[in-house]
Amino acid sequence: MTRPMLHIDSDYFLTAFRELAAIGRDPSGRGYQRLAWSPAEREAHRWFRERAQQLGLIVSTDEAGNSFADFIPPHVKDRPALAFGSHLDSVPYGGTYDGGYGVVAALSAAKTLMDSGLPFARPFRVMAFTDEEGPRFGTGLLGSKAVTGALDMEHVRSAHDQAGTTLREAMANFGCDLEKLPNAAQHLSRYFGYVELHIEQGPRLERLGIPIATVTAITGIRQVSLHFEGQANHAGTTPKPERQNALRSAAETIMQFSAYVDGTDNLVTNPGRITAHPNATNVVPGSVRLDWDIRSPEPELLEQATAALISMAERAGASFGVTLTTDIFHDVPPCPLHEPWMEAIEGAASHLGLTSTRLVSWAGHDAGVMGMVMPAAMIFIPSRKGVSHAPEEYSSDDAMLDGVRVLAETAADLLTRVES
Ligand SMILES: [Zn+2]
Repeated sequence: MTRPMLHIDSDYFLTAFRELAAIGRDPSGRGYQRLAWSPAEREAHRWFRERAQQLGLIVSTDEAGNSFADFIPPHVKDRPALAFGSHLDSVPYGGTYDGGYGVVAALSAAKTLMDSGLPFARPFRVMAFTDEEGPRFGTGLLGSKAVTGALDMEHVRSAHDQAGTTLREAMANFGCDLEKLPNAAQHLSRYFGYVELHIEQGPRLERLGIPIATVTAITGIRQVSLHFEGQANHAGTTPKPERQNALRSAAETIMQFSAYVDGTDNLVTNPGRITAHPNATNVVPGSVRLDWDIRSPEPELLEQATAALISMAERAGASFGVTLTTDIFHDVPPCPLHEPWMEAIEGAASHLGLTSTRLVSWAGHDAGVMGMVMPAAMIFIPSRKGVSHAPEEYSSDDAMLDGVRVLAETAADLLTRVES
């Protein structure tokens, strides 16, 4: 790269980051409550659009509540746009770095790019996605799925939160019509690709002492429910060999499958939820539902692991006279990111004198949804102690500014390329 380094206005970034960080704090001081379709999330979007407008960007929203800010040089107005951004919602008691950092960084990069005078070969779009996290309505990645036409309408129509508010009502409160969600995908052909900057949410970069990672793939996530059906019976009088103990079958499965996973690379799993019935001390557990989260960036490993899990569960059940039924209730395929754009990120980092490494993302991201239908790339910066989805989530100002610089340089490269 021969052009001089771009100048980032660090005051602009830090001021904007602190403004956003004032929105949606938990009243008790424990992190953030910027949940999807909450007044706090909507306020964050309003803040974003106002800030973007001040920069001179063209601001809009879509049917999914996503916010956009466009820079469209007249001579390239008909070409597909390079998009970059992240999401503005948080998990309950979450941090503001997850998602919020990427959005503010994208605004800062936009400011730099607009001032750069570079000869752009295409427009750019700053994106702030809605409902990326998903815990309120069991949706997740809703904004990006709407943009790419990947939404399961049957699922969103039945979605409701724990208080009984339906997603339809929550959207209507902000003037959005759930039935119009599919319309959000009508502009899909206008995208050249998507780049997302995000905190790592794990400890690897900090431990390596490396400021930047290029993400190679977003993990696939498969959630499998195992339903063991035995026979509830008296905990004292039932002869030991005759106990059809569903919970013991589940426990054996946890031990065996966890040992299998411990011996495997590129695969993580979690026996995250167990429901036993009747859940009484003096009753042999008659039925158990055990839900697993299985993740891998390799589709074959997801298949192999699912098959291994089911056969272990069947055997563990059979040895106690317990039958098994299974259900894959959530299945997101892995998304490999765009190799030429990984190289663009690495080139940007080295142009800035920053070392970088390559990592898999073990968390889901909007980039994994966008990347299914267009070139996509992702940049990570270190998270202190690897903590995320918690009030202690933190990345230093210097670490964040390094990320902003890499994003701006990467975008400058991709915006000025005549071909992809
Ligand atoms: Zn995030």
